[in-house]
Amino acid sequence: MSYSIRSEVNEILAARNGSYINGAPVFNGTDYITLQNPSSEAYISTVAVATGDDVDLAVQTSRAAFVGTWKVLTPYQRSCLISKLADLMERDGEIIAQLDCLTTGKNINLAHGLEVGQAAVFLRYFAGWATKLSGETVDTSLGATGDSGFTAYTSRAPVGVVAAILPWNFSVMIGIWKVGAALATGNTVIVKPSEYSPLAWLYIARLAEEAGIPPGVINVVNGNGATAATLVTHSEVRKITFTGSAATGEKVAIAAAKNNFKRVTLELGGKNSAAILPDVSVSDVLPKLLPAALLHQGQICASPERIFIPRAQLAEALECIKQILPAFPVGDAMDPGAFFGPLANEAHLGKVLAFYDKAKAQGRLVFGGQRLPRPGFFVEPLVVIVEDPDAGVFNEECFGPVLCVMAYDSIDELIVLMNSTPYGLTNSIWTNDLKSTQIMTKALESGTVFVNTHSMMDPALPFGGTKGSGYGREFGSAFIDDYTELRSVLMAY
Ligand code: NAD
Repeated sequence: MSYSIRSEVNEILAARNGSYINGAPVFNGTDYITLQNPSSEAYISTVAVATGDDVDLAVQTSRAAFVGTWKVLTPYQRSCLISKLADLMERDGEIIAQLDCLTTGKNINLAHGLEVGQAAVFLRYFAGWATKLSGETVDTSLGATGDSGFTAYTSRAPVGVVAAILPWNFSVMIGIWKVGAALATGNTVIVKPSEYSPLAWLYIARLAEEAGIPPGVINVVNGNGATAATLVTHSEVRKITFTGSAATGEKVAIAAAKNNFKRVTLELGGKNSAAILPDVSVSDVLPKLLPAALLHQGQICASPERIFIPRAQLAEALECIKQILPAFPVGDAMDPGAFFGPLANEAHLGKVLAFYDKAKAQGRLVFGGQRLPRPGFFVEPLVVIVEDPDAGVFNEECFGPVLCVMAYDSIDELIVLMNSTPYGLTNSIWTNDLKSTQIMTKALESGTVFVNTHSMMDPALPFGGTKGSGYGREFGSAFIDDYTELRSVLMAY
């Protein structure tokens, strides 16, 4: 079953799209991004690339809104406006979900659940924080000098203009993590969506205005890597929050350091592992683990691409995988009955197919790995057994539906293998063994360790990486450090 495209969505696809700056649409550029529907390969819309002057206008108006309106509002007023945006996103959830579905190939159910439903939950979480920021009073260690005493306290100050650079895989929800965090802490924000998913944020910027958020507080600048790089080097941008590949993250970190040491949060790639421990049965775990690993065609930064199986259960695990994967319903992103849809764009399809070739050469084929003979960027998932832990496919991120299976013999060996990757975003262990859980959750080098689940996110629990997966944390209370300056005040009396 497929459902029809809303008239509002068709209007947006046909419109003259560009950027949204200081409460108005802007399309000065002569370069255009062409958008393709990954489910059909049809060309569906174009978006003007922002010029250097557009980027400058976005930064100047964002700075003016920071000083002139957003900072002036009370925390309670900011909290109410952020919550109101969440309400409007839910009201127009169908439009937002369809825009995402049509440009990135995300299944409509997933788009509703995460890009709208969860995005609203996250926004309300941040709205709550707007009224709870505080510093602390400090008893100075030096005490009085002469007839002077000292008292001291700290407070949190917003950093100013924040640039939020987004990937295409969860363009709305990941953008909301950054926009919600920036606005709750009193900053203004310029969103630079991925060139593959620029439309939803143009719509959300309009909703922000309807919510009463003053013009310039959320600006949206569309374009490519060069557009984002201009934002990173702009002198009035005080913080970059970046989610994307490690290769681009490195460029962002270097450019930020060279441009007055801008603050940076980097949410980068991963080569995440899931390990089934010997106390549980692979036949019980794999029906839960495989859908978690292959949700959104594996294009989730937290998804596992490495699966560790106790050697004694390897044969059973391979049989299980061969039974479960062919049963995943494949279909168009707008088909609510489908689980497995197209890859997000043609360039990514090329990267995934090249990775498949490498995986088949470096591992032993268990399942899949072919492009599907139908329009759209559809592939089968690929499962290979890998024996060499140094193999490239076992250490490099595919960011697609590939699973490298490896057998292990002991928990000590398993910990070494799971940590043997340049990345450190997520790991999961599947077990009811309390002792192994305690040992492994302490030993695994990743920002998150899941137990008996994988890729679940909660606004109250910080998310971020270690090692090559970047630094900084999204949400939880940890985001406050990344979006504020801690000011110290020392008073003699
Ligand atoms: P990407 O690095 O190609 O692009 C991300 C963004 O960076 C885009 O908006 C792009 O225009 C911009 N960009 C490109 N060149 C730039 C430059 N020189 N300076 C500044 N910005 C520049 O990544 P992608 O293909 O959009 O996303 C996939 C990657 O994102 C994967 O590696 C995935 O693991 C990662 N990801 C990480 C998380 C996380 O939370 N850790 C979440 C989602 C995706």
